[in-house]
Amino acid sequence: MIKIIFSKRCLEYESPGHPESPKRVKIIYDFLKSKRYKFIEPEECNEKDILFVHSQELLNKVKQGNFFDPDTPSLPKIYEYAKLSVEDAIKAMQVSLEGDIGFSIMRPPGHHANRDSLGGFCYFNNIAIAIEHFVGTNSICAKFVGEPFSAKGGCASGTRVRRAAILDIDCHHGNGTQDIFLGRKDVLYVSLHRFAAFYPGTGGKSIKNAINYPLKFGIGESEYLATLENALKGIKKFNPSIIGVSVGFDTYKFDPIGGLGLEISSYRKIGTLISELNIPTFYVLEGGYSDDLPKCVLEFLLGINKHKIL
Ligand SMILES: [Zn+2]
Repeated sequence: MIKIIFSKRCLEYESPGHPESPKRVKIIYDFLKSKRYKFIEPEECNEKDILFVHSQELLNKVKQGNFFDPDTPSLPKIYEYAKLSVEDAIKAMQVSLEGDIGFSIMRPPGHHANRDSLGGFCYFNNIAIAIEHFVGTNSICAKFVGEPFSAKGGCASGTRVRRAAILDIDCHHGNGTQDIFLGRKDVLYVSLHRFAAFYPGTGGKSIKNAINYPLKFGIGESEYLATLENALKGIKKFNPSIIGVSVGFDTYKFDPIGGLGLEISSYRKIGTLISELNIPTFYVLEGGYSDDLPKCVLEFLLGINKHKIL
């Protein structure tokens, strides 16, 4: 069953005129609610979780609002909202480890946040923190370390999360996520993104454990899906216990920021291809700014859940 992780509190902050607005998530929430999806709230995360990925300096900066970035503005209580989004990603991963499908639709997004720096609408790297929460020797989630959780079909290893893959299908390269895990043997980063003269300008080629597929503006569905199939082969070969997907819908052809020429119906095909790997997978929302966002998300959900609503 798909469980959508969401808290209405993420709709409380706004920077006038900013494309990463409460509206974009509210329209997803309202639409999925009308389709009777099951929603759950995140649980509190520990500051230590954030520090597994980010420096104390960045944490302090966000906490004190002591920074200036026009794309990633310092807003009242932004630390609380950024932390809530982290908690949502952790909860999404936990849900998928327990045998359901966790999907976080929270904001702010995270994949541009690096160890020491925020940027590109991202304060903390939600998906990276979730992965670090459960993977490797740093894990503080005793519940999952060394204990079997295969009873409900959870992790493929049957004991603990040993290896994780991140698939980043946002239109932008997840420079933060790539850098955070660069050189790690237990984490693979794979990204499909628009490249050349496009933010953040990284991801032109693969490096170490970061497999990058730079794509031209407006390439369209058939080339995109062929590239995705190739990317998924690499993930299968890596044999991860779990996959975390940075899901962006700014690859949609009418997205005002991104644009890789995808149709609304393309997202069901993308979701289906990911689900065919038959590896536990959780999903964390990154970008997507068009008014058709709810329809794109629904198609994607139908794909990952083999065409069933719930
Ligand atoms: Zn994006």
